[in-house]
Amino acid sequence: MPDRYAVIGHPIAHSQSPLIHGLFAQATGQDMTYGLIDGGADEGGFARALAEFRASGGRGLNVTLPFKLQALAAADDASEDARLAGAANALRFDGGRIEARNFDGIGLVRDITHNLGAALAGRRVLVLGAGGATRGALRPLALAGAAEILVANRTADKARTLADELAPHCGDCTLHGGGLDALAGAAPFDVVINATSASLSGDAPPVPASAFAPGALAYDMVYGKGLTPFLRAAQAAGVTRVADGVGMLVEQAAEAFAWWRGVRPDTREALARLTVPLA
Ligand code: NAP
Repeated sequence: MPDRYAVIGHPIAHSQSPLIHGLFAQATGQDMTYGLIDGGADEGGFARALAEFRASGGRGLNVTLPFKLQALAAADDASEDARLAGAANALRFDGGRIEARNFDGIGLVRDITHNLGAALAGRRVLVLGAGGATRGALRPLALAGAAEILVANRTADKARTLADELAPHCGDCTLHGGGLDALAGAAPFDVVINATSASLSGDAPPVPASAFAPGALAYDMVYGKGLTPFLRAAQAAGVTRVADGVGMLVEQAAEAFAWWRGVRPDTREALARLTVPLA
């Protein structure tokens, strides 16, 4: 019997995870299946689906919106990244226990440094937005060696509170938060990450051209939408290195796969299959 894995969310039909994990399993010769579970909109839907999947021998789940917080709450053990993110995006069922991880941040770091070849060590990083995605990304960015990270958000207090909370967990990195208006007088950044959800509604947070250092990478966490308004604005400011979040999606999947199966898959084929040209 193949080992069973799945992704749970609501809605979930759009998920690319079965394609990604199917490619990983094939390439690494793992005897496993990977399905989709809709946890539904009703209260208790996630808990019921989780219990049923475990009872039927399921080995692990990826978790997407809106269940990442519930997934962490259901876990017996959680990694520091998951605890600090306040959310889990991968679960493993082992000897009656539920283990939780959050691989979004490490997926982002791996995409930036490995796939895109941009350095984080010693660099100034600007993260736009102060929601769940930013919360999960800050510590991994800091531990990758970023010298300074500014979190800039439409609601300035949210960015300040988040930075204050996470700064003690970010090693030598200087982490601070503020409003988008603080960008006007700031020194330029080597990596500018749009972790707002503005791109989903065809919008972009206002970022002055002066925020981009020469040779900067502009990275939009949203994927599959081509050139977003944020990436267009970066190009208009003279930025030539632009990327969307497809690599983050694929790399976090690879981290979960490696955690479950003990073998790290090559991500190039999945990346090639899912990449939408930025034009
Ligand atoms: P979230 O928790 O809902 O946070 C949204 C953030 O965006 C908030 O800080 C909000 O500011 C800001 N925002 C929304 N609309 C804005 C606008 N028009 N102008 C300026 N700021 C705006 O969302 P999330 O979970 O962090 O996700 C953020 C993005 O990351 C989403 O697009 C998501 O698809 C993407 N993501 C991608 C991956 C991947 O694997 N590639 C993984 C996770 C998330 P306020 O606080 O002022 O409301």
